Amino acid sequence: RELEKVADEIALAANAGRTPDRLPLVAICGRPNVGKSTLFNRLTGTRRSIVGDEPGITRDRIYGEVEWAGRNVRLVDTGGVVPDDEALIPSEIFRQAKVGLEEADAIIMVIDGRTEITSPDIELARLLQRGGKPLFLAVNKMDTAQLEAGAENFRTLGFKEVMPISAEHNSNIGDLLDAVWAALPPEFVAEEPEENQEGEDDEFDEDSYGPQSLPGAQEPDEDDEEAPRERKLRSHGEHVLRETKVAIIGRPNVGKSTLLNALTGTERAIVSPIAGTTRDAVDEVVERDGHSFRFIDTAGIRRKGKTTEMAEKLSVIMSRKHLEDADVALLIIDATEGVTALDANIGGYAHESGRSVIILVNKWDAVTKVGPDGLTLYDGKPPADRKAYEEQVRHALKYLDYAPLIFISALEELNVEEVFKKTQLVARERRKRISTGNMNRFLDSVDFQRASVPMNKRVKIYYMTQAAVAPPTFVLFTDRDVKLHFSYERFLANEVRDAFKFIGSPIWFKVKARN
Ligand code: GDP
Ligand code: GDP
Repeated sequence: RELEKVADEIALAANAGRTPDRLPLVAICGRPNVGKSTLFNRLTGTRRSIVGDEPGITRDRIYGEVEWAGRNVRLVDTGGVVPDDEALIPSEIFRQAKVGLEEADAIIMVIDGRTEITSPDIELARLLQRGGKPLFLAVNKMDTAQLEAGAENFRTLGFKEVMPISAEHNSNIGDLLDAVWAALPPEFVAEEPEENQEGEDDEFDEDSYGPQSLPGAQEPDEDDEEAPRERKLRSHGEHVLRETKVAIIGRPNVGKSTLLNALTGTERAIVSPIAGTTRDAVDEVVERDGHSFRFIDTAGIRRKGKTTEMAEKLSVIMSRKHLEDADVALLIIDATEGVTALDANIGGYAHESGRSVIILVNKWDAVTKVGPDGLTLYDGKPPADRKAYEEQVRHALKYLDYAPLIFISALEELNVEEVFKKTQLVARERRKRISTGNMNRFLDSVDFQRASVPMNKRVKIYYMTQAAVAPPTFVLFTDRDVKLHFSYERFLANEVRDAFKFIGSPIWFKVKARN
């Protein structure tokens, strides 16, 4: 008990300096002059000058932070300064609103309560309503109680939540925030490991495209909505992840851009290009089923090297760069060529980066399509066998034994859905947090006699605690201050994985001598 408490405190302290990956984001949308900036300034307490923009040029979206009821939220004023040209105004509002739709966790549409509803208001409302995010209509400029009553007239716009406010006079702002905050995703949610769940997911019954599971690992249900609530726990330091940053990596011609096109071109995807973290980089965000996938540097992926040698060098540099910004790496292998030295090289960087990895064996169509004789490929070779093929790949990429492997055809868009599902799964797995209590029950259950480690390299582990997520990092409190022997670490990682899965993610250990 006492030890658990201490260990939890250490874990907390380790997390104290971490800021959550991403605060929830609330977007403010609306026509010009309804009072968006006034509201924004009111909430953030800042006075951002919005004058002085060059004519005809849209001001960037303005971000700020609001603390209310003990919780910080990011705010974006999507209004910007719209072009002087009246005709451009509606399209500009829609462009801005769309950005709000993609990014935000909740949206406040502001309307001027002293004016009539206009058709851009109606169109904007419809656009927002299609997005399925929590929506609030702030009827602004309701400076007096008398005027407030009039807010009800705006219900015709179809919003459930209609609030009269006065941004300028600071009235009802607290009520608006209370309502918006209540609709935001819960703060700091971490998950307990889910129990083993039976049932292979057999959505892809086509012979050679069945979903692959990790050897020895059963996957938790993809849909954690079903998971009993009491198995979730609140903890400090992490915010529930809703955007997953994805790097598509691999050597030239394995099919990176083809896959990107397949992923961003699916029917259910809303895609929006946004500026990436580095100059000239463009990321594309795909919003599906309430989860955003941000593909890093899509412009870079689509750009091709001039010469083979140049392209190969560039592919390594880009892979490494993209890994830096990513949560999950999709490592693409060309099935027609198998794992090459360059693939292994890039795979090694992925492993070391601490990112979660999914191995995609692409062009599977090209090695399985049977010719007219029913026995051989069109080019006369026998078609590849999935199981044998996977073994070869796993052998060549041993260190990535935790990475799920999927056979796909980017060109024929086969099994591409599975890529989204697995990405979401591994993104969730890498942020899982195991309580120190569970960790120590686990530790008690491990039979360390089975570890094949030289006697003099053995350390006694008194207890262990998860100090970080993404990747899951464990601190071992031991009797001696020595680096863990390679095979001991591997043994322990396998045991942790058997118990808690962490599908797709490397597991890191740190040793601390206790005394
Ligand atoms: P935006 O273009 O939507 O960002 O609108 P602004 O915030 O620039 O506001 C447009 C005009 O409405 C300004 O002159 C504000 O002073 C005025 N305004 C904003 N909020 C209120 C309010 O609550 N009551 C009144 N009477 N005027 C307001
Ligand atoms: P990148 O250099 O990694 O971005 O590769 P590309 O996406 O440009 O693809 C290289 C070549 O492989 C192109 O000729 C593609 O048409 C082809 N290709 C990509 N994916 C597949 C696939 O799934 N099956 C087949 N048969 N060819 C593919």
